Amino acid sequence: THFGFRTVKTEEKQHLVREVFDSVASNYDLMNDLMSGGVHRLWKDRFIEMLAPRPGQKLLDVAGGTGDIAFRFLSQAQKRQKDDQPDASVTVCDINGEMLRVGRDRAVNRNILRNIEWVEGDAQHLPFPDASFDAYTIAFGLRNVTDIDLAMREARRVLKPGGRFMCLEFSKVVMPVLDQLYDVYSFKILPVMGQVVARNREAYQYLAESIRQFPPQEQMIERMKKAGLSQCSYRNLSGGIAAIHSGWRI
Ligand code: SAM
Repeated sequence: THFGFRTVKTEEKQHLVREVFDSVASNYDLMNDLMSGGVHRLWKDRFIEMLAPRPGQKLLDVAGGTGDIAFRFLSQAQKRQKDDQPDASVTVCDINGEMLRVGRDRAVNRNILRNIEWVEGDAQHLPFPDASFDAYTIAFGLRNVTDIDLAMREARRVLKPGGRFMCLEFSKVVMPVLDQLYDVYSFKILPVMGQVVARNREAYQYLAESIRQFPPQEQMIERMKKAGLSQCSYRNLSGGIAAIHSGWRI
């Protein structure tokens, strides 16, 4: 074992993930800023920049939690929109009602009331018909899903032909030294921060462990292809601490 790393069993995982996000929902946005030093905001900006939202586009944001991706998408789409063009719209889907509730409140506070929908649902069994979206995003969500291959096949199913799949996720650090610092950070410092700030050490320990278990960049590409996605590629962020994977339903 590495810094007390343990393997979480499949049945255990679904339950654990629910508990984690139930307990962190109200603290979630604050903790994101603290733990990443605000860098998650830049990664998310980059992610949306790569997606290049356009008027009329229909996005499904899975594991959308408290709405970070959805809000960025709508504001970028709006910037590009001319008067006669149709609005872009986003459906936020998350398995956790608490996270969605926080997201809805944030949307109301930001006066975002149109072109956004909040749906409780599982990434592995999406409650949407085939070929219904132009784009699918999942940010820091896929690693929480029990069967990521199933989730990616579902992503492909709900995408229209020509639609794009994009995943933002913690990945494998590719820079020497940085990888060691990162290990110390995630297995030693992070759980303590979780304890102090969110009074939940376990949740943040789970976070570090789930990052470890997630397939590295190249393996993700193989699994995306297996799920039926084409022209798969990725880009590292911050030396591979995170990565953006992109693929298309042809
Ligand atoms: N996308 C948001 C962001 O970037 O800030 C939230 C990411 S949060 C780390 C992970 C989210 O995944 C949680 O809101 C959790 O409820 C959701 N989640 C976990 N398992 C899921 C599943 N099987 N289907 C859909 N959402 C899931």
